[in-house]
Amino acid sequence: VFQLSLPLNFLGSVYRELRQSLLDMETLFNLQKVNVAIKEVPNAKPLQLTKGGEIKFENVTFGYHADRPILQNLSLTIPAGKKIAIVGPSGCGKSTILRLLFRFYDVQEGRILIDNQDIREVSLESLRKAIGVVPQDTPLFNDSIEHNIRYGDMSAPPEKVLAAAQRAKIHDIVSAFPEGYKTMVGERGMMISGGEKQRLAVSRLILKDPPLLFFDEATSALDTHTEQALMANINSILKEKARTSVFVAHRLRTIYDSDKIIVLKEGHVAQSGTHRELIDTGGVYSELWSAQETLFDEEGQEREVSIED
Ligand code: ATP
Repeated sequence: VFQLSLPLNFLGSVYRELRQSLLDMETLFNLQKVNVAIKEVPNAKPLQLTKGGEIKFENVTFGYHADRPILQNLSLTIPAGKKIAIVGPSGCGKSTILRLLFRFYDVQEGRILIDNQDIREVSLESLRKAIGVVPQDTPLFNDSIEHNIRYGDMSAPPEKVLAAAQRAKIHDIVSAFPEGYKTMVGERGMMISGGEKQRLAVSRLILKDPPLLFFDEATSALDTHTEQALMANINSILKEKARTSVFVAHRLRTIYDSDKIIVLKEGHVAQSGTHRELIDTGGVYSELWSAQETLFDEEGQEREVSIED
């Protein structure tokens, strides 16, 4: 019995690892976008986060098709432990940056470094394990809410799952369901809203607790009030743990307090700096900020204006 249970346990953990990385990929991109041609170098070493997770793009050029570059000679630095925002018009390549970082594609020119290691030189598993994402749209498993949150860390005890849900502002909603955390969700379960899904994804990420965090329009489905409350919680977690975090956002109000804001335009960095600096210099960012700040609807309520408008 003992002899049999060992390999089964081992297979179980391999299976969980596999499911976890599949989940990460799924939550990021639909599978057609994943390029299976990406290979590890022989004897790839695990990524070592010796500087706390500094991300550098050095003269990166990349396009999905050779004749249409999306990023052109792009250089940017995301300092370790800081909160960075990337803003820019739709299609300018914000999600592409994330896909390159995960190495779903390789750059055509230049290089991407994490703590001075070229990401092409490190093992894919260690690279993808280090990065957590709250994507634009979170797929759910056909399982309970508890299970869906616990996916961030399969070994987490119920108290940790609950604490993560509280910080992600989903606990009160879940508690009000007749079956609470046992409520089944996903295609065959209860339908939950886009905002609730986003908060489930945030609680998953809080449990996973990766060193590098990406929020790809992660609060876009929330109303302004819930968004602000959730952002306050996310900010306090980031501060507490000094995590490197990158927010892709359309609503500038969610990111104006970032340590650095990078404005992308046509595949390169058009502007970067703090909110104050970008307002003082004028240009794309300050125009967008005033457009988003001054528009109100007939009732005097703030109107949602996205960066494309
Ligand atoms: P949004 O703000 O709308 O999410 P984005 O800035 O994140 O946009 P990306 O998703 O990075 O933009 O896409 C950048 C460009 O690359 C777009 O023109 C898009 O159509 C194109 N693109 C994205 N994925 C692929 C793909 N797999 N194959 C070909 N082109 C692609």
